[in-house]
Amino acid sequence: MAPPVPSLTTQPETALPNKAKSSPAAAKSSRARAKPKAKPKSAAKPSRARAKAAPVPKPPTVLVRQARKINRVLAELYPDAHTELNFNTSLELLVATILSAQTTDKGVNLVTPIVFAKYPTAADYAAADRAELEKIIQPTGFFRNKASSLIGLGQALCDRFGCEVPNRLADLVTLPGVGRKTANVVLGNAFGVPGITVDTHFGRLARRFGWTKEHDPDKVERDVGALFPKSEWTMLSHRLIWHGRRVCHARRPACGACGVGRLCPSFGEGPTDPAVAGKLVKTGPFS
Ligand code: SF4
Repeated sequence: MAPPVPSLTTQPETALPNKAKSSPAAAKSSRARAKPKAKPKSAAKPSRARAKAAPVPKPPTVLVRQARKINRVLAELYPDAHTELNFNTSLELLVATILSAQTTDKGVNLVTPIVFAKYPTAADYAAADRAELEKIIQPTGFFRNKASSLIGLGQALCDRFGCEVPNRLADLVTLPGVGRKTANVVLGNAFGVPGITVDTHFGRLARRFGWTKEHDPDKVERDVGALFPKSEWTMLSHRLIWHGRRVCHARRPACGACGVGRLCPSFGEGPTDPAVAGKLVKTGPFS
């Protein structure tokens, strides 16, 4: 797995006005028809839509260079980084990602073969017997909430999207149990649409690298997205999550055994002695 550019979202949140080309004559005629007394309703306060479209300040070049260098080294360290959830279809990935909340990918992968076999389509989730579904997904924790999300998900998909998983962020986030993180996982890994997945590892590493000071996932996504081309977003997310799971732990990061230690402004946050740090590295598997 586990992630951002002016709007810093993977899909525009509001439709842009259609700026069709027009001739000077047409423009003149249009101005002549326009009612001169029509005043903007709120000249002082910009609308919310306009505020959202405000350009994000460009990050300093030195930060961009350092960030991209770290990404290149991580790409060498983890050439096959990928989501550690098992899935075959966009629906399966969506379900697995919902089940992965507050638990490990490994735990989810133990349960999903049963779930996917019993509920192969969105309609199957919509019609699921709640008690039966809860029992199956119980090992993943928060099973009552997750069962509600999955049943609601199936209903919403069939009611509004022809029982198919939509491939737009704006649509995905309207589904029960689906926030930006889940939506970006599905977009990036099932549809090939670049997305930044800000989970706990991604946020922590982005702060340690100095790419953001934010804790709010949307703001982390915005700040990190401004440092990288969109084409890197999905793989960058996988690499940070892999590095966070294996080396750069929340408590006692293995700095002395870290492949990006010489580039990291937080080097020294964990043990720097290679022998001590080496013992902190986790090798997985995590799935
Ligand atoms: S040097 Fe330490 S803090 Fe920086 S990425 Fe490596 S393990 Fe994490």
